[in-house]
Amino acid sequence: MGETIIPLADLRYAAELPRIPERVVPPDGLLSDRLGRPLRDLRISVTDRCNFRCSYCMPKEVFDSRYRFLPHDALLTFEEITRVSRLFVEHGVRKLRLTGGEPLLRKGLETLVGMLSALRAPDGEAIDITLTTNGSLLGRKAASLRAAGLRRVTVSLDALDDAVFRRMNDVDFPVADVLRGIDAALAAGLAPLKVNMVVKRGTNDHEIVPLARHVREHYGPSVILRFIEFMDVGATNGWRMDEVLPSADVIDRVNAAFPLEPLEPTAPGETAERWRYRDGRGEVGFISSVTRAFCRDCNRARLSTEGKLFLCLFASRGHDLRALLRGRRDGRPYTDEEVAAAIGLIWSERDDRYSELRGRDAAEPGSGERRIEMHYIGG
Ligand code: SAM
Ligand code: SF4
Ligand code: SF4
Repeated sequence: MGETIIPLADLRYAAELPRIPERVVPPDGLLSDRLGRPLRDLRISVTDRCNFRCSYCMPKEVFDSRYRFLPHDALLTFEEITRVSRLFVEHGVRKLRLTGGEPLLRKGLETLVGMLSALRAPDGEAIDITLTTNGSLLGRKAASLRAAGLRRVTVSLDALDDAVFRRMNDVDFPVADVLRGIDAALAAGLAPLKVNMVVKRGTNDHEIVPLARHVREHYGPSVILRFIEFMDVGATNGWRMDEVLPSADVIDRVNAAFPLEPLEPTAPGETAERWRYRDGRGEVGFISSVTRAFCRDCNRARLSTEGKLFLCLFASRGHDLRALLRGRRDGRPYTDEEVAAAIGLIWSERDDRYSELRGRDAAEPGSGERRIEMHYIGG
C-alpha cells in the first residue's frame, strides 16, 4: 500500500474551523469588529508561487527547489473564490484585490477577473477590482485583463537601475520588461496605475529620487508612486529595524528634489499618506506600516490561496473557510447563509492591531506559531 502523503503546506499555519452561530441572520452590510472597524477590503491570494525571489519576501535560501508550494487541489477554485467574495460583498466589502505570490502566474486569471467583475453591491454599484503584480507578465496580459473587467493595477518596482532591480528580484529579471508592462497597462486603460517601491535602507534607498523623477517625467499624474517601509512580515526575511527607512525621511528626500504638499485622505482606512508635487506633476504616497501604525482604521481581510481567512497581515492563525466551502453539515453542503454568518462571527470577534503593539509582548504569536509569510498572503 502506498504511503499517505500529507502536504506540508496545508499544515503550515494553524487555522480554526469557523463556527456557525446559533442564529443565522443574513448580512446587513453593517458588520464591525471589536474595535468598531467595518469590513471593506478583501485581499485574495490566488497563488503562493512566484517567479521572483525578492529577499524581503521570498528569500532564495528558504524558497528553493525543496520548498513545498501548495498542491493544485488545495487552491480555492475560481467558483469558490467568487462565492466567498460575494458573501464578503454582502457584508460590506467594496474592494477586491488579487494578489499572491505572483497572481499573473495563476492560469486563466482573466476568467476569475470576469467572474468577480460581475459582482454588485446591494445598491447596484460595481465592486472595485484591482491586482498587485511584479509586472513581469503584464506586457502580455494587460489588454486581456482590462477586457475581462479589471479596472486598476498596482505594479511593484523597487529600482529603476537595472543592476539594483536584478539584485532586488534575485532572479536577474530586467527592469525594462517591467517598464514595458507598465506601458502596456496604461495603453490598455488601467489607469491611474500605482507603482509600489519597498525601500530598504542601504539596498535601494538611493533609487528613491531617480524613480520619483522617472515616474513624474515619463508618466505624470497617470502613475502614482508609493514608497513602502520594509516590514517585519513573516519569519524568513531577516528583518532589522536599521534597514527600515522611515517615511518621514523618504518624504524629505523627495521633497528636496521635487517640492511636495500634503493631500487630505480620500477614504477612511487608506494605507498611504498622500502628497502631491507642487508643480502639478502628480501624486505620491507613503505607506508607513512600521513608523506610523494605521490599525485604527484597518478594514482589510485577507484570504489565502487555500481559503484561510486572516484578519491581520501579522497573524499566525487563520480561519479555515475552505472547510466550510467543501464540507458538509447533516449530509448537505453549507448554505451561503451559514458561510456568511460564520464570516460575520469571525469579523465581529476581531481585535487585531499588530502595528500598534509592535515590539510589545502582546504582538508576539503564541509559542510554536509562525507568522504568515507575505508571498502566502499577498500584502
Ligand atoms: N508578487 C506581487 C508583487 O510583488 O506585487 C504581489 C504579491 S507581493 C507579496 C505584494 C506587495 O507586498 C508587493 O508590493 C511587495 O513589494 C510587498 N512586500 C512584500 N514583502 C514586503 C515586506 N517585507 N515589507 C514591505 N512590503 C513587502
Ligand atoms: Fe514575488 Fe511579489 Fe514576493 Fe517579490 S514581493 S517575491 S514579486 S510575491
Ligand atoms: Fe491592519 Fe494588522 Fe496592519 Fe494593523 S497590523 S493595519 S490590523 S493588517
